[in-house]
Amino acid sequence: MFRVWVADRATGKESHITVEADDKHDAMTKVQDGNTLVADAVEVSEPASTPNDRLAVVIDGARRVLGRFGVDPSPTEIAGRASELLQQFEAVPSANDLAWAVLTDMGIRARSHGDLKDVFDAQARFLATEGRDHRDAQRRSYENELKHLAGSGVDRVEILANDGCAECARQNGERWAVQDALAQMPLPCSGCTNTGVYGSPHGFCRCCYVAVFDD
Ligand SMILES: [Zn+2]
Ligand SMILES: [Zn+2]
Repeated sequence: MFRVWVADRATGKESHITVEADDKHDAMTKVQDGNTLVADAVEVSEPASTPNDRLAVVIDGARRVLGRFGVDPSPTEIAGRASELLQQFEAVPSANDLAWAVLTDMGIRARSHGDLKDVFDAQARFLATEGRDHRDAQRRSYENELKHLAGSGVDRVEILANDGCAECARQNGERWAVQDALAQMPLPCSGCTNTGVYGSPHGFCRCCYVAVFDD
């Protein structure tokens, strides 16, 4: 258990966060995101001894993990899922396992292509940060985006390349009928070489579709 001192990059407000980590470096990495400056980490003896106390720390960690991907589940939802995992595995889950379970629930619950696009996008980024293969989740995100666009009456889209990789640049400016794009899935670019996005070991295509209204 480590106590990490952080400051909000925008406001300068300082606080500390308690995390479970293997060592000081791991602890500092775990609390890092775009808005947070990390000053120092100090190992502290585990203050929480009962499973429910430890679960509270894990819930806090999972909320932070999900917050990085723009996901903000209700306190009731995340606490309920944490208790389920605790009972199911008879062990306190890790913050990442809890965050993943919540994301999976959201995917099952999602009723619109727009919601599914967001859930799969969060899953893709989550997988990338864990050094796992994000590409299937990313493909599903683009697929749901196209279906969402089609459902909104969009017939044609243009591809915009964002990441500067040569493979992605090849399709930049291409215009596709939405139904053709759904059949052939030009995004994510299969040969993308843009590794390291969110720590991903695989190319993480940042191309996007833009609706075309006049042509
Ligand atoms: Zn691309
Ligand atoms: Zn690329």
